Amino acid sequence: MHALAAELYPICRSITGNGVRQTLEHIRRRIPLDMHKVPTGTPVFDWTIPKEWNIRDAYVADCHGHRIIDFARSNLHVLNYSAPVRVNLSLDELKSHLFTIPEHPDWIPYRTSYYKEAWGFCLSHNQLLAMDGGPYEVHIDSSLEEGHLTYGEYHVPGETEDEVLISCHICHPSLANDNLSGITVAVFLAQYLSRLPLRYTYRFLFIPGTIGAITWLARNQERAQAIRHGLVLTCVGDAGGFTYKKSRRGNAEIDRAILQVLKFSGAAYQIEDFVPYGYDERQYCSPGFNLPVGCLMRSPWGRFPEYHTSADNLQFIQPRQLAGTLRVVIELVDVLENNKTYRNTMPYCEPQLGKRNLYRSTGGSDIGVDNLAKLWLLNLSDGQHTVLDIAERSGIPFGVLRDSVEALVNHQLLRE
Ligand code: ZN
Repeated sequence: MHALAAELYPICRSITGNGVRQTLEHIRRRIPLDMHKVPTGTPVFDWTIPKEWNIRDAYVADCHGHRIIDFARSNLHVLNYSAPVRVNLSLDELKSHLFTIPEHPDWIPYRTSYYKEAWGFCLSHNQLLAMDGGPYEVHIDSSLEEGHLTYGEYHVPGETEDEVLISCHICHPSLANDNLSGITVAVFLAQYLSRLPLRYTYRFLFIPGTIGAITWLARNQERAQAIRHGLVLTCVGDAGGFTYKKSRRGNAEIDRAILQVLKFSGAAYQIEDFVPYGYDERQYCSPGFNLPVGCLMRSPWGRFPEYHTSADNLQFIQPRQLAGTLRVVIELVDVLENNKTYRNTMPYCEPQLGKRNLYRSTGGSDIGVDNLAKLWLLNLSDGQHTVLDIAERSGIPFGVLRDSVEALVNHQLLRE
């Protein structure tokens, strides 16, 4: 997973342009996704597909022609979506186009100007302090032209047409936790699920943030109604515990399922309420859609110092942490896939488990969690309680209940 992140790291992505297409091509070598192209100027709800941005080179050079700031060294050096420019300016004139982080003088900030035409450079504060009065040669060899917005979509069919949505953004340039971590977890989850028999159909979206989600929703208004559960994946590779931001509904099955998983994951976690800000859950949870889509993160965006800086690099995300997130998401899928409702076929008093070899003797005064799981399942399986309901009420991990369900179904004591 980390190798995939490393492969994608150098690409200069934005909300449109060659970087997005290259990223999707890399993903396509692992999962056969469909690439969709939507032309500039296309209205999508209240928004419009912007001009396509591409960049070849950019620099600020001193009077000897030495590149003081060079796009070739880091793609974060250019204000993302910068209009082309070629001028000579003194440092004073240039300053309003320069962005730094004085509190972290070695880091380059990541800045964008998508919907307002501008140009600029991002640099470390120490770089700025080392600059003399100029003049400087300023050149951004970029283009803003009619083109396309591109996104990738991959669906893994299941038994039913009810869908689980997995969405991640692919619009940030060399930033690891904030975009590459979500992409890698989504790709590996897709590969894993494509080999399994599934109840739900899984839809994976690799889209530019905000405008990509709006575009997909505008083109799939009908299809979106089939989404039963959804998850936005972002910032899932750092060393922090998990943060889950609930869907707008607040009590959707996915909100409850992830809590079940995190509770028994052994990892630190926090659950946060929905706010109409953050990542693409904002669009999925807009009132017209109100889809049950939450957002899974480790350290939440904006609350780790490396966020939107050059310090959000490949060292900041680690294989163990990416794998830990994948494991949590796979367990979440396991809960969603197996959260069904059963009916006890012998509801008049307890069926005798011992004679069916379903009661495990513990030899002590402790009844044992496997036995207890069966008693809870038999008691609450009245056609009104799902396995997740029973997990919440009994405090027994979902996985233990799921295994007991299998045993009880095999002995015809439970029926779906
Ligand atoms: Zn971001």
